[in-house]
Amino acid sequence: MQAIPHNIYIHVPFCMSKCNYCAFFSQACVAPDWGKYSADICDEIKYWATKIGRFDVPTVFFGGGTPSLMPVECFAQIMNTICTHCNLPAGAEITLESNPATIDKEKLNSMRNAGVNRLSIGVQSFDDARLKFLGRRHSADDARQLIASAQNIGLRVSADFIYGLPQDTVDDVIKTCHQINQIGLAHCSMYELTIEQNTPFGKMNLNMPDNDTMAQMYMAIGDTLKLPRYEVSNYAQGGDECRHNQNVWDGAAYVGIGQGAAGRVYIDDTWYEQRGAYEQFDKISNQTRAIEKVIMGMRTVRGCELTDDVKNVIDIAWINSHPTLVRINGGRVAATPQGMLVLDDIVEKMVR
Ligand code: SF4
Repeated sequence: MQAIPHNIYIHVPFCMSKCNYCAFFSQACVAPDWGKYSADICDEIKYWATKIGRFDVPTVFFGGGTPSLMPVECFAQIMNTICTHCNLPAGAEITLESNPATIDKEKLNSMRNAGVNRLSIGVQSFDDARLKFLGRRHSADDARQLIASAQNIGLRVSADFIYGLPQDTVDDVIKTCHQINQIGLAHCSMYELTIEQNTPFGKMNLNMPDNDTMAQMYMAIGDTLKLPRYEVSNYAQGGDECRHNQNVWDGAAYVGIGQGAAGRVYIDDTWYEQRGAYEQFDKISNQTRAIEKVIMGMRTVRGCELTDDVKNVIDIAWINSHPTLVRINGGRVAATPQGMLVLDDIVEKMVR
């Protein structure tokens, strides 16, 4: 049977140091064994290309951790392996996550020449005191320069920001949004600071903004940014959405490569939950997969497509009786702006 397209996520679990809020699967490692790392990743790609069958790759996303720490040769070797063992169409989206402290103009150029066409930059804040508090190893100027360099060489650019720090006010968040508007970003992600246990912040007794203030900040972001929201935390000019994430939220198949990376692969009419190449590989029922599609699709402003499998797991009568929170339109079910604030509750109620 012909393999369906699979997006590829590649995890790079190394960072220069751990940020104070970070609970991602990553470790501070000054000199990782990059040769072994890329050889392992290439082996996993070959493994999945055999197991799934040679498949088309609409997008590749290098996430972390800090993928921009990776030597260019290592990135190129991984891309070569994808080209050799899968079908990488011209125009495939290749995203590299980056920390401004780890990549200069020269390396950025080399990465672009090796195939990167989209750079996602962890800016987090345009205020140096806040960056220090978060445990970031770069300044606001470093981030601004990286954004400008990436824009100048024609990369699609996205930047991540964190709001809702203990000292933040709604006005601070609005100021950040104006700064984002000024530098002409076509995509940004705005994440509310959440305190995770087992992080330095988890051990401090931080005085966080209350829920009402956080909700006001969220609404202010939507009102101030020139970029429309297309997912709970993501904003983009039309056409500049992250195709990789959009595909995953739409329920497309994707392979997670590297330690701890998770995916959903589709082989011979069956969905599998997968973690790395050898860590986990379990069948999931079509019903479970349909529920996952609802959970992820509802995060997007355009919502979840009402395919037959989705219709089987949702309560249409409940949806129709809550038009201020959720609506069906154009073959999709989507949360209203008001519904986005209570998304978890809505999803729980609409799934049967
Ligand atoms: S750079 Fe990113 S992944 Fe690494 S510690 Fe900081 S937040 Fe976590």
